[in-house]
Amino acid sequence: MSADPIQRIVDEIDRAADEIVRFTADLVRIPTVNPPGADYEPCARFLGDHLARRGFEVEYIVATGRPEHTRVHPRVNVIGTRRGDANGAVVHLNGHVDVVPAGDGWTVDPFGGLVRDGRIFGRGVCDMKAGIAAAVFAAEAIQRAGVRLPGTIEISGTVDEESGGFAGVAWLCETGRIAKARTDYVIIPEPLNVDRICVGHRGVYWSELTTHGRVAHGSMPFLGVSAIDAMTEVLAAIRGELRPALESRVTAMPVVPARARHATINVNAIDGGQPLDGIQTPCVADRCRAIFDRRFLIEESFAAAKDELEALIRRTLGATAGVEYELRDLMVVDPVLTPEDSPVVSALDGAIRRVLGTAPTLIASPGTYDHKHVTRIAGIPHCAAYGPGELEIAHQPDEYCRVDDLVAATKVIALATLDLMGCRL
Ligand SMILES: [Zn+2]
Repeated sequence: MSADPIQRIVDEIDRAADEIVRFTADLVRIPTVNPPGADYEPCARFLGDHLARRGFEVEYIVATGRPEHTRVHPRVNVIGTRRGDANGAVVHLNGHVDVVPAGDGWTVDPFGGLVRDGRIFGRGVCDMKAGIAAAVFAAEAIQRAGVRLPGTIEISGTVDEESGGFAGVAWLCETGRIAKARTDYVIIPEPLNVDRICVGHRGVYWSELTTHGRVAHGSMPFLGVSAIDAMTEVLAAIRGELRPALESRVTAMPVVPARARHATINVNAIDGGQPLDGIQTPCVADRCRAIFDRRFLIEESFAAAKDELEALIRRTLGATAGVEYELRDLMVVDPVLTPEDSPVVSALDGAIRRVLGTAPTLIASPGTYDHKHVTRIAGIPHCAAYGPGELEIAHQPDEYCRVDDLVAATKVIALATLDLMGCRL
């Protein structure tokens, strides 16, 4: 046995590789698909039972006050706590248990937990059940190596990240379970590649535009006002005016991929007139609805992004006789950015150098994740995302996580956790 505690931890993780893989595959076999939020409770119990057997105090926190929480699909979160030195830092490792629906194009069973050629396959293995396994075994390895825990480790499995995290991390923050007064550092093992540290994300502004026209017989469209034609004008203005303006703006945040360093807008959905699968009658559409997904930069503000969209719609539709419209905000998430000198960044940086022998890259995510709740609701600035798996593989058919990435990330998380508790590497 090595005299160096860090080496002992690294050795324990190498020895536990098969166990970590098995644990990840077991998690994949629980189909925690969101929507609708299936099997959250069995998944929380699986995680909680495992942590309890390892001496963690386990709490189940149910988001009873949230509308997503139902009898059929209860929103059950789990937190395990292992206390070491009471004066040391509290490091919270958070992973979401929900996964997006499998979708088409799979060549393997999305919930089979297949392990082949050094990879674990399955929906949610990369995003982010491998990350949860890495957190669990990082804590486990510290214990197996006989290293005194100089602080407190918390491991949580939370729900609904893929749909905003309101019954998950946001609930834990709103109810004070994750709070500035009791939680020093948060690491979220999202799949961002093992040599990268994610320090935040762009802002999100989802809105719904509804245009109203006047119904008429479809054989005499000149007698009506088409809400679809009106929406088309807005879409043309978005393509012709707004997009070029957004593309000319660049953030200083290290967002990846590089094209996401610009502000963007996407039309997520559109519907108008009669439902396509209904019985068609000849009518001019008196209604059309579109959902816009605007991602704004930390250098912009939500208010400016909203004003800009409103002005464009007003310019486009304001002079069109017979057209009315309304714009409704659906979701607003401000950008977040971990402070440059945050200990959570330097701890992950040092651990990556030690484990991988390379300098990490700091990145920011093109999309939002639970970091926002930790920063905005709990007020904890020292949060970053670091975990196994490749970002581009998330949400794809034949999603996988490489076993060597999983083992490496487990080591990095273990060493970074100890570093944050004051144990110099
Ligand atoms: Zn995720």
